[in-house]
Amino acid sequence: MTLRDTAKQTQWVYSFEAADGDQRNLLGGKGAGLADMTAAGLPVPPGFIITTEACRAYYHSGKSIPDEMWSQTLEAMQELEHTTGRFLGVPSNPLLVSVRSGSPVSMPGMMDTVLNLGLNQSVADGIARRTGNPRFALDLYRRFIQMFGNVVLGIDAKLFDAVLVANQEKAGVKLASKLSPEALQIVINEYKVVVKRETDEEFPNTPKYQLEQAIRAVFESWDTRRAMDYRNFNKIPHDLYTAVNIVAMVFGNMGDTSGTGVLFTRDPSTGEKNLYGEYLVNAQGEDVVSGIATPQKIAHLQVQMPEVYSQLNQMAMQLEQHYRDAQDVEFTVEQGKLYLLQTRGAKRSAKSAIKMAVDMRAEGLITKEEALMRVEPDQIYQLLLPRLDESAKQAAKDEGRLITVGLGASPGGETGKVFFTSDEAAAQSKRGVSVILVRPETSPDDVHGLIASKGVLTARGGATSHAAVVARGLGKPCVSGAEMIEVRPEDGVLHCGDITIHEGDEISIDGATGEVFVGGIATVEPCVNDDVDLVTLLSWADETRRLGVWANADYPRDAELAVAFGAEGIGLCRTEHMFFEPARLALVREMMLAAHATIVIQEGEAAQVRYEKALAELEVLQVDDFAGILRAMAGKPVVIRLLDPPMHEFLPPYEELLAEVIELRIRGTAPELLQERENLLNAVNEMRETNPMIGMRGCRLGLVFPEIYIMQVRAIMTAAMKVTAEGVQVCPEIMIPLVSHTNEFQSLRETLEETIQTFRAATGSTQPYRIGTMIELPRAALTADQIAKSAEFFSFGTNDLTQNTFGFSRDDVESKFLMRYEEAGILKENPFQVVDEDGVGQLIRMACALGRQARKDISLGVCGEHGGDPKSIEFFNTLPLDYVSCSPYRVPVARLAAARAELKQNAAKRSNIGGS
Ligand code: PEP
Ligand code: MG
Repeated sequence: MTLRDTAKQTQWVYSFEAADGDQRNLLGGKGAGLADMTAAGLPVPPGFIITTEACRAYYHSGKSIPDEMWSQTLEAMQELEHTTGRFLGVPSNPLLVSVRSGSPVSMPGMMDTVLNLGLNQSVADGIARRTGNPRFALDLYRRFIQMFGNVVLGIDAKLFDAVLVANQEKAGVKLASKLSPEALQIVINEYKVVVKRETDEEFPNTPKYQLEQAIRAVFESWDTRRAMDYRNFNKIPHDLYTAVNIVAMVFGNMGDTSGTGVLFTRDPSTGEKNLYGEYLVNAQGEDVVSGIATPQKIAHLQVQMPEVYSQLNQMAMQLEQHYRDAQDVEFTVEQGKLYLLQTRGAKRSAKSAIKMAVDMRAEGLITKEEALMRVEPDQIYQLLLPRLDESAKQAAKDEGRLITVGLGASPGGETGKVFFTSDEAAAQSKRGVSVILVRPETSPDDVHGLIASKGVLTARGGATSHAAVVARGLGKPCVSGAEMIEVRPEDGVLHCGDITIHEGDEISIDGATGEVFVGGIATVEPCVNDDVDLVTLLSWADETRRLGVWANADYPRDAELAVAFGAEGIGLCRTEHMFFEPARLALVREMMLAAHATIVIQEGEAAQVRYEKALAELEVLQVDDFAGILRAMAGKPVVIRLLDPPMHEFLPPYEELLAEVIELRIRGTAPELLQERENLLNAVNEMRETNPMIGMRGCRLGLVFPEIYIMQVRAIMTAAMKVTAEGVQVCPEIMIPLVSHTNEFQSLRETLEETIQTFRAATGSTQPYRIGTMIELPRAALTADQIAKSAEFFSFGTNDLTQNTFGFSRDDVESKFLMRYEEAGILKENPFQVVDEDGVGQLIRMACALGRQARKDISLGVCGEHGGDPKSIEFFNTLPLDYVSCSPYRVPVARLAAARAELKQNAAKRSNIGGS
């Protein structure tokens, strides 16, 4: 029976020739790529794929391999034997295979692979005889025991390393490939002793048993902690499962005309269109990826094996044309003959993602829309990550602090404290320490350390080593292959020449240049406009998006930055941030205390005088604040929110004051000071609230102390008049926070309108303005039609709206139980980061509809943190909102996210029309 005859039952197994590369979910990425390359006539060794469905069935059946799947595997194995003319376990003509994982979404290095499967002593001896190369045969066998022992039998890799290193030292060589056949045989025998000691069993000799165990191990590797961590971090569903690829082995370790490597069709760091990658002569795949040795740059291949190089170039072009995207390709050269072992979409830094997208559109490979979909909005954020300040770096060099230069493997620059283990790095980072993880090399077990660190430095490994690939994905700087350094995690030190750096010492790394410095170096934030490709991409985003993108900015310098990043208005200027400025805090306190004194303690006129004086002084300062922002925004709308937080936030904490008063009482030496502090303590005590977030704040404060809002509105109008007189157009919008009842808004609006009329009468100003409200309480959303009758705009404060809809106090729940909710699947995401569509989103949808019903031209925006979150933006794009507003650094992110949201929405509409 052939493979195809089994199609009536579940087909668990597909040969590369019979598989359809479009079925990625079934075949996994690696299997789909191998099927595609086989179909394209590229030189792929023969093999077959056990599907992701098989892995799912394995888990669903309590971890047993279905009989049918196993018999189909054995049949496929026979076909493979037939195709290759070699036979599993037959010493005179043996077939060896690799057993490789491959999930639908690439998870580099996270899951397991076994190479050279099918070996035992007599097969190894057979290969030695057949090839006349016993060193090669025994090298394969020792690699197999080591890999199978570690991956399948779960033996600590260090135990094998120790045997190998001891034998290398004994033989006086640095590389395993330099060991004599006799020495390799000793290594093999000692490896077997390790296996027996650790598992209580002999190393398995039967190839079919080895195969079954290896398949099982690949299935199991789907569920390891590191794979789950990786999926959680990258939001990859846990139910995709992995396929298993069984591929006839080709050998890169057959001497100096053989080798193995990894290449990217374009530079994954910069996006430049030239082959990028590295290879090792006389080696097998795991040597390159694990970073055990530092390989040579692919360009050398042009000299060493020119024909192979030009073949690779040609194939790279073919693959890019087929996939219409840059590829990451694994290859092996066996005695001059090239084989491709894998192709997948190349992981890339933010910078290169943008350059590739823009270039590929120029090359006609993709459309503008596809280019926009090729860059994740958060990648733009990465591009705006800090870099080491060039002049500070030069100064550090002049001071002799540059200790070595490794490979610049992932861009960005960071300063941090050195930690040598991932556990320690994660623990320190939890304590708020900026960590640079330093390792001899990293392995998939280091993922949590890499996630927790600011950057990573490794002594070994190239640009495609584990550390480099993961760091690029995470958008963190990485310097790899810094061979001058000797890392000794067990002693808590690293040596670099005669310099010793201890755990906890500070270093700085530049992931673009590979430079490593002792001590700290200042970092700078790059500007979005420095990158022409990003400017181009964002201009396409602007042509595509429907939603406006505004910024939350409190100071002129933030407003300027926001405009440089493309903000079309200020959606939220939080005036309290100006109040918190240290230089004016005393004045603000005086205003608060005096205001409080006028109504609570009945201090009468004296308090009123103090209150008015403080207000007048503050008004002068606020005029300058607002003029600065209006000037910077030159004609663009600026939404200024009147004072929002509870009063006591501006006063000293109650507990601190109490301690001070007690101390003064005990000492008894400063009665006047004691009296003053006691008065303050009483006032603070009276203003204290049990739930300040839902207490006397926002418009409630404005209704009790209207003078504060009046002062702010007069300052806004004065500033507008002043800036207009300078010839700069201004569009101020006055926003009232925390409204829940339309009467609150109406009452305040009347007061403020009166103020403006008086101002106009006194100054002759005709400055236009608008008055609107925040929607941040459920009641406001539910009665939005009533509020809209007198409000010209709504701005959804989704931070408070989330707190008040869930009844979550953000500061408490985020630190106490929100993580648990996420882990237990009660909430899929933190609702303060990604808007809760079903609850909070429903309220926004309703308020938009009610608002527009009551006032057709009401403008609608979002100014909570969700306004800068790509996933939330996707949702907001489906509502009749006019704009989102976010922090200046997220403005470019939101521009791209809004464009992608529009493209997705249009595509969904088209497919709905097509489907109906
Ligand atoms: C909000 O609640 O979403 C908002 C923008 O206001 P703040 O975060 O200042 O309370
Ligand atoms: Mg709020």
